[in-house]
Amino acid sequence: MVIINGAGIAGLTLANALQRKNIPFVVLEQAEALQVLGAGIALQNNGLAILEALGLAKELAISPVLQLGVGPFNRFRRVTMEGVGLRCHVVHRSHLQQMLLTSLPQEQIRLGTSISQHELNADSVSVTLSDGSQLHGKYLVNAAGIRSELHAPAQLRDSGLWCWRSVVPLTRPVTCFSEVWFGKQRLGLAPIDEQRAYLFHVIKTKPGQHPEKISTAQREQWIREQHATLADITALDLHNATWVSHPIQDRTIDWGHGRLVAIGDAAHALTPNLGQGAVLAMEDAMELATIISNNIVNPAQELARLRHRRVAHMHRLSWFFGKMAHADGKIALKLKSLAFRLLPMRKNLAAQVSWMNAFNHRLKEL
Ligand SMILES: Cc1cc2nc3c(=O)[nH]c(=O)nc-3n(C[C@H](O)[C@H](O)[C@H](O)COP(=O)(O)OP(=O)(O)OC[C@H]3O[C@@H](n4cnc5c(N)ncnc54)[C@H](O)[C@@H]3O)c2cc1C
Repeated sequence: MVIINGAGIAGLTLANALQRKNIPFVVLEQAEALQVLGAGIALQNNGLAILEALGLAKELAISPVLQLGVGPFNRFRRVTMEGVGLRCHVVHRSHLQQMLLTSLPQEQIRLGTSISQHELNADSVSVTLSDGSQLHGKYLVNAAGIRSELHAPAQLRDSGLWCWRSVVPLTRPVTCFSEVWFGKQRLGLAPIDEQRAYLFHVIKTKPGQHPEKISTAQREQWIREQHATLADITALDLHNATWVSHPIQDRTIDWGHGRLVAIGDAAHALTPNLGQGAVLAMEDAMELATIISNNIVNPAQELARLRHRRVAHMHRLSWFFGKMAHADGKIALKLKSLAFRLLPMRKNLAAQVSWMNAFNHRLKEL
């Protein structure tokens, strides 16, 4: 049996992948109920291919194919996603979680449970749960998110950015996935369906500043003021928005050791600047299910061998992208503006698509 710690996107994807290979598992989740955070997730080529491989993507049939408009300083550049082979469906996070949950037997998901002790043996693992009971299995997988310390201390790096996210009702449909950079701030808006959009707002903080103290009214006012640049803002019913807010951090990569393997944010949380965190967690899960079905003696080492290069690349790139998006010195602003005019956006997006599709080829072997 595989003991999975955490019922987030990584843990639930692994449970689905194991179920398809007839490998027994149990998922332990410390929350009494699976929380619905008011945020969206952009699922791009690799995430969609995984859902298709798990037989779950049919649920996404209604999502539109979107256009991307990136507009620094009132200048938008548009690319038809289809034209560069990019597929992007923005879903409510709870929808993704529900999709991953529906095919799993509820008795194999234990809510309100955490691990108080664990022991790793040569060919097995034992855990003691918060209620004092014991579980024995062949592998223990830590999928308990960015702060989890089951396999290693959480070494977090603060990016100096603070993010607010919301799923906002729409007063009219919007069709564009838009991202706008304004000096220290960044705003992103993507439709989930005709009634709702995912909105994120990121600011660069100064030392000693407490962004959590900025009032919602003040921030919403600021967002409304950007309507001259991004007309879709007038379609947002901000009065009925509920915001989730947190600092943007990443975590030093550590895949665990021996039969204690880490996946997803527990192994390598990355800054969300390129929207690949959840999808990389899903990729880890698909790769690990195959490693487990092949009875590999040291799955942590094997997962690191297969995944480290790819994950480290995106970890670095996301960090760099965040720094670039929020660079706000006089020279930095000029360089950013110039780069936006000169950089071949289609070519860059095509490179990102090809990076994502590399996993889709790998998926056929898993
Ligand atoms: C602002 C922002 C925007 C993002 N946008 C995107 C995007 O567009 N696309 C994308 O692909 N990714 C995105 N991500 C990243 C994505 O949200 C994460 O990478 C993904 O949720 C990681 O999944 P996970 O299962 O590893 O961890 P989590 O989702 O954190 O799940 C961990 C689970 O473990 C449980 N848990 C915690 N501690 C314990 C414990 N001790 N015992 C048992 N259970 C425990 C938690 O309750 C939770 O259910 C974004 C992230 C942020 C912060």
